[in-house]
Amino acid sequence: MPTTATLASPSPLSDRLQAMNESATIAMAKKCRELIAKGFDVINLSFGEPDFQTPQYIKDAAKQALDDGFTFYTPVAGIPELRQAICDKFKRDNQLDFLSNQIVVSTGAKQALTNAIMSLVNPGDEVIVFSPYWVSYEEMIKLAEGKTVPLVGTLENDYKVTAAQLEAAITDRTKLIMYSSPCNPTGAVFSREELGEIAAILARHPQVYALADEIYEYINFVGEHVSLAQFAEVKDRVITVNGFSKGYAMTGWRLGYLAARQDIAAACDKMQSQITSGTCSISQRAGLAALRGGRSSADEMVAAYRRRRDLVLDIVKDIPDLKTPTPNGAFYIFPEVSAYFGRTAPDGSTINNSTDLAMFLLNDALVSVVSGEAFGAPNCMRFSTAAADDKLVEAFRRIKASLAKL
Ligand code: PMP
Ligand code: GLU
Repeated sequence: MPTTATLASPSPLSDRLQAMNESATIAMAKKCRELIAKGFDVINLSFGEPDFQTPQYIKDAAKQALDDGFTFYTPVAGIPELRQAICDKFKRDNQLDFLSNQIVVSTGAKQALTNAIMSLVNPGDEVIVFSPYWVSYEEMIKLAEGKTVPLVGTLENDYKVTAAQLEAAITDRTKLIMYSSPCNPTGAVFSREELGEIAAILARHPQVYALADEIYEYINFVGEHVSLAQFAEVKDRVITVNGFSKGYAMTGWRLGYLAARQDIAAACDKMQSQITSGTCSISQRAGLAALRGGRSSADEMVAAYRRRRDLVLDIVKDIPDLKTPTPNGAFYIFPEVSAYFGRTAPDGSTINNSTDLAMFLLNDALVSVVSGEAFGAPNCMRFSTAAADDKLVEAFRRIKASLAKL
């Protein structure tokens, strides 16, 4: 980001801040909101956010918390009942045993990830990030002065990194590996066999830790969700991150958590004691109700996400220059779009890269999407499928018409 500093007035902003990129997903969503406010009929497929309301029983618990006067600071790592309910969830869904002092509740999974990275990564440490990756990982690692080492999965393997690739990438400086499964942006889901092979590599490298981002756990169309922490030989070195934003449609409540070895959980607790003092008391009561209510509300939403995925794949199969693997989870499609690079738009400009193509679609189709560049995949583009069916049909009708002009 260029600064406006001059010799006479140097920028007051830190080098740290100036080295940081704005979140591309949030930047596109902002642009989209601005255009909508100006009266443009833009369809927003850039933001990865459920379009469902938070289920009523969860809202009711929040109202009750307010009526109960539950408005004070909570313990930094979360209220005991919620931490216990998270342990119960890990047992029920993932067959994992944790004690509640291994759980840290945070202001979204985003903060849980940041806590873990800031607690583990020293300046210069290498963090192997399975790529394509979620936009914020690289910037979080930068904040900790770590070095991101992207490890790129191939289109043929649905963008999933293999154990052999991981083995070849580990060095003496490797501190951490991180990935999401189901993956944002690709929708790929690691199988038990694949994660078992990754665990076997980690078992041979005792200095390497793993950050497993499982926020899309419930939005899985293949059925089995596997946690890396289920492999006993590495469980102590896996930090499992999850949250309420996706599975319970609770993005605005800012509620996420991690489970880790007790000393790592204590470090994350210390980190957030100085930064947030823990997350919102009302949200925690809502999260408690969410978990106690099981996952049936999530199942209803997942049925809609699956239907929308199929709807969109059925349209994009007629756009051969979008090479689109079938996502097995999350709510995105992530096609390869490089066939369009070098082509000329109707205004005479050249589409040089995925960012140009995203801007073309925004201006010509009035559909906002996110360039693959921010996900470490410059030949790809991310389209969210978390929108109503009729909006998706209209968006892809427009996209198809606009792409045909190139
Ligand atoms: N990880 C991934 C892969 C995500 O897509 C998101 C969604 N923003 C997050 C973490 C953070 O979620 P939260 O809203 O809980 O901070
Ligand atoms: N997870 C969403 C996305 O990837 C939310 C945006 C964000 O938190 O950056 O679009």
